[in-house]
Amino acid sequence: MSKLALEGGTPVRASMLPYARQSIDDDDRLAVDSVLRSNWLTTGPMVKEFEEAVTQYTGAAEGVAVNTGTAALHAAMWAAGVGPGDEVIVPAISFVASANCVLYVGATPVFADLSLDTLNLDPDDVQRKLTSRTRAIVVVDFAGHPCDHDALRAIADQYGLTIIEDAAHSLGATYQGRKVGTLQDITTLSFHPVKHVTTGEGGMVLTDDPGVAKRVRSFRHHGIDLDLHTRNKTNSWEYDVVDLGFNYRLPDINCALGVSQLAKSDRWLERRRAIAATYHEMLHGVPMLEVPVERADCLSAWHLYIIRLNLENISVSRSLVFSALRAENIGVNVHYVPIPWMTHYAKLGYVRGKWPVAEREYERMISLPMYPGMTDQDVADVVTAVIKVVKNYSI
Ligand SMILES: *Cc1c(COP(=O)(O)O)cnc(C)c1O
Repeated sequence: MSKLALEGGTPVRASMLPYARQSIDDDDRLAVDSVLRSNWLTTGPMVKEFEEAVTQYTGAAEGVAVNTGTAALHAAMWAAGVGPGDEVIVPAISFVASANCVLYVGATPVFADLSLDTLNLDPDDVQRKLTSRTRAIVVVDFAGHPCDHDALRAIADQYGLTIIEDAAHSLGATYQGRKVGTLQDITTLSFHPVKHVTTGEGGMVLTDDPGVAKRVRSFRHHGIDLDLHTRNKTNSWEYDVVDLGFNYRLPDINCALGVSQLAKSDRWLERRRAIAATYHEMLHGVPMLEVPVERADCLSAWHLYIIRLNLENISVSRSLVFSALRAENIGVNVHYVPIPWMTHYAKLGYVRGKWPVAEREYERMISLPMYPGMTDQDVADVVTAVIKVVKNYSI
């Protein structure tokens, strides 16, 4: 067996392979350059063009571009009318923005546990976490795999709740043949560089509800009354602030990048699926780990490829396996530390040990590199390194 790089052996790769990376081509550079030569750096025609491109791609009726995925969640929460005194159910494992947005509007996150197979919200636990104060549910299509959308929808309908789907991981995914963006009341996207399509930083709120879309448009622009603004556009200084909004606008520079990126996203999605298929083929059945599942009624968007270690078959901790893979120059990561474990949440009174699936599975998780620009050699290197490391540590 070859010696681990962590113990002085030769690493599988000479240079570090990141876990995610944007793909930027000449057409992206040209698109941005043409905005830089135009009259509109922000609040111009590219914003609408990008919004229309995303609604066309997803099938949502309305899209409102904002400057981060986090801003999209904040705006969605606010537009849904969530506020102080309300509780919002959030999965115990997600990026922290999925829960922070609840705090931004003065409401209380209530964390629910995950289904063992997909690591998405467990509808049964959501049911158990409902109270008379529950107003909304944030559902996250974790790693790109759609949630149990129908089961969650049924709960929301029964209790009159709004569902905000944090689809930062799942642009392009389908659930029972339906595309992400059309599944729930409000869907939010992120265009951070590690996501499917990037605008540098950026986000979008998708909805079929014109009232929600209108509220988000005002919220991203200081809470200004946009009807008055439009009416008086040509010859008046008048404007009115009717709510406390923010400056969450996404510049035309970024929107132009988004439009040119989106045109390539189906090709990139196919590449992600091919990489996932290779990982699956090469790693499933290795007794030291489990590969992720894709349910029969879903097509995952494969934002992340998360293996789970079978720690009972390994002589060391997850942390040492992680370090050994990094030493082989494989840029593995872990998504994510449970949100209620964060210091800020501990200060708010959340205590560990209440989400048995999330907290146990978290200890086993490692994200392998996954992005469309990976070459076949990169994918092969990851497989070689994973097998090398887990075999070295197998019991
Ligand atoms: C990336 C991400 C966000 C936030 O997006 P930003 O654009 O970085 O603000 C929110 N939720 C999840 C699940 C994410 O992965």
